Amino acid sequence: MVKIFIDAGHGGTDSGAIGNGLQEKNVTLQIANRVRDMLQSEYQNVSVKMSRTGDQTLSLKQRTDMANAWGADFFLSIHINSGGGTGYEDYIYDKLSDNSKTAQLRNVIHEEIVKLIGMRNRGKKKANFHVLRESKMDALLTENGFVDNASDAALMKNSTWLDNAARGHVNGLARALGLQKKIGGNPKQSQQEEVTIIYHDQSIQGLLIDSISYVPVREFGELVGATVHWDGKSAYLNNQKIDGKLINHRVYLPVREISERLSLKVSWNDKTNTVTVSK
Ligand SMILES: [Zn+2]
Repeated sequence: MVKIFIDAGHGGTDSGAIGNGLQEKNVTLQIANRVRDMLQSEYQNVSVKMSRTGDQTLSLKQRTDMANAWGADFFLSIHINSGGGTGYEDYIYDKLSDNSKTAQLRNVIHEEIVKLIGMRNRGKKKANFHVLRESKMDALLTENGFVDNASDAALMKNSTWLDNAARGHVNGLARALGLQKKIGGNPKQSQQEEVTIIYHDQSIQGLLIDSISYVPVREFGELVGATVHWDGKSAYLNNQKIDGKLINHRVYLPVREISERLSLKVSWNDKTNTVTVSK
């Protein structure tokens, strides 16, 4: 499980930067909540904790204490810039080298955010910010446009831009930290079609999800003559525990993995969407 701490900058009596009718604390929370929702609904090996989910006042120390006590793997602090500029930039702690793990993770996240944020790229920066220095885990602070710039602020008032900004953070975190998509978790995110699994002269229906063929474990066991046992939590194939995915109340397994365990051969025909399994 990858533990990601999401810190919406400012809050409560601390509005952060203001401009064009916007307060930084509200925009950071809108992006942070979207990042949380996307991570939780679409990824399976992630745990998310927020510094705040509403308009609370929190010191910087409270934020890093919370993340350190939780044992987060990654600290993401979301901010909006001000002071006369335009565009996106992000920060890691200034004592870190460009070869550090944090810098490498930032390279990936930065690349994904700038693809989607639709703003000028101001680059990858370093600073001695409290949340970067005092957090014990890899930490990144993003500055998502300038609230005192009219065109940046216009974007911040647009929910599609807020979605895109959040999506960039999510894509970056997923790639950098190796997050795995939930199977069947979000039909818009994963390509799912039917596939036929053939064994001798019999066949069953499986699912092709993101180019991987899955079979319902019980039917597959019956098809190939393996013993399948389900104890309510885990599936056992010939008494070996296997991790399945629950799709529409049935347990599915990747056909290649299950066949290898049973020393069966697998061949795939992409013209007919069939998988042939043989001894
Ligand atoms: Zn800020």
